[in-house]
Amino acid sequence: MGFAFSLSLGAGFCIFFGAGWVILNHLRKPPVKTLVDNPPVKTLVDNPLLDFIGYKGLVKKSEFIRILTDALISLGFDDIAALLEERSGIPLHSAIVKQFLKLVKDGEWDKCIDALQGFQLRDEKPVSFLLLEQKFYEVLNTGNVTDARRILKEMVRLRVDTNRVHELASQLIISAPGEDTTESVNSRSEFMEKLQDLFPPGVIIPERRLEYLIEKSLVDQVYHCSFHNVPDSDLSICYDHDCEDHKIPSETVQILEEHIDEVWFLKFSHNGRYLASSSKDKSAIIWEINAEGKFSLKHKLEGHQNPVVEVLWSPDDRQVITCGENEVIRSWDVDSGAFVGSYERNGVGSISCGWFHDGSGIIGGMADRRIYLWHLNGTEIEHEQGQRAQNLSDVAMTTDGKWLVSVGKEQHEISFFDRETNRVEDVIVEEDMITSFSLSDNNSYLLINLITQKINVWYIQGEPMKILGLDGHKRSRFIIRSCFGGYDEDFIASGSEDSQVYIWHRTEWREPCRVLSGHSGAVNCVSWNPTDMHMLASASDDGTIRIWGIDKNLN
Ligand SMILES: [Zn+2]
Repeated sequence: MGFAFSLSLGAGFCIFFGAGWVILNHLRKPPVKTLVDNPPVKTLVDNPLLDFIGYKGLVKKSEFIRILTDALISLGFDDIAALLEERSGIPLHSAIVKQFLKLVKDGEWDKCIDALQGFQLRDEKPVSFLLLEQKFYEVLNTGNVTDARRILKEMVRLRVDTNRVHELASQLIISAPGEDTTESVNSRSEFMEKLQDLFPPGVIIPERRLEYLIEKSLVDQVYHCSFHNVPDSDLSICYDHDCEDHKIPSETVQILEEHIDEVWFLKFSHNGRYLASSSKDKSAIIWEINAEGKFSLKHKLEGHQNPVVEVLWSPDDRQVITCGENEVIRSWDVDSGAFVGSYERNGVGSISCGWFHDGSGIIGGMADRRIYLWHLNGTEIEHEQGQRAQNLSDVAMTTDGKWLVSVGKEQHEISFFDRETNRVEDVIVEEDMITSFSLSDNNSYLLINLITQKINVWYIQGEPMKILGLDGHKRSRFIIRSCFGGYDEDFIASGSEDSQVYIWHRTEWREPCRVLSGHSGAVNCVSWNPTDMHMLASASDDGTIRIWGIDKNLN
């Protein structure tokens, strides 16, 4: 008989693991009838050896069946859930719990409190207190302050949590009649969690428990996955997950060769569809990706008199700005490739540039060691940062628009200029000269490249804190740029003077997890595609751009 039960349970189980939808349909139509026609199978209590399942025998079969029943109900298969309860002889909840939960669902709080007697709890008061609290919110939402006050008095008499009663009393004062406090509506699931915790374990099965357990297992697998780098949609509950190191971009998938001199800078657009590069050849190029994932030249942006040190995307990817070395900052239309306008200070050349977080303005780091701001139409915005850098390099604005970040005094400092208070609020001091920096998209981390070929990673939410230093890449003469990228920005990539690209992962920052060879000149800059975590680009003195993808032989 036990064997017969296992078969029927097995069919139900498939509902959750892959190809079970077909089986489910069979269960819902003719096969269901067949099963109902079969006499109920008494199983679990018949054979104590079957009470536990799992490869370590840790799972109580009765509990497993109960969460299966709950899962079926949450998926809308109440009829199959009822069948499972009947066939197994194990109800999701006892009759008294079922009745109690119905009263909770209907908001019959006084009857809920009366029903507690049937549970013979060691202490009913905390449960009554919680039920009254929920009742308080619902009454308050109707604007009935008198009744809400009466409920508070009942709660006081229980002597469970005086502070909480005071908190609720304060809501009586701030709540206008008829105003929806929304707290009770939003906290219904939280209320159910608290309620379950007040009963002995297993009396009330938490809703969607199976879903929770399976998802938690996935979260744990991702957490322990070495070099995790796949989108969440790639996860499957049908097998154990482990990326190993197969999902790190490591193979050249394309070489772009339209520049005729050293490529100094490159950056993917926010939507991942374009790549912009700039070169010593005084041009910038906008590359567009096709359906096969291959890039082709969309526009060559020409007009600068000097090498182009940076090309940066507007937040909406409709424009780029280019920074000519000791020259002007120009803006360009991405669609047409047309020159839109320039941003300059008479007689003062530009060193670096950046966008406002919302695309409404341009930042220029200029040769007179000052930072200038312009509206998009070219009008200058008054800005006095006070402290001048000895020699400015990068400037950037955080994506929330709060901070203007720049290399400060004597190039050993990073300044955080607060745009609300109009002054420098934080400063990071490095031991060595800073050559470039890069912000993470979530504004939590800052990568600082030092002249000593070291990259320091700082946590910048709140008081800046250095969390580690990366070694491995080679830098002695040029500006080498690094970036965050991959899943959750867990990877750091960097160019290097030894013609290689270095990649580190958060789990093992000390050693690079990949060193990519292919370029024949110094790698000046790298960019990780923000919408394709398997795509990395690198720009080199060899005049080429390499697009790196995952190794197809390993995937
Ligand atoms: Zn993984």
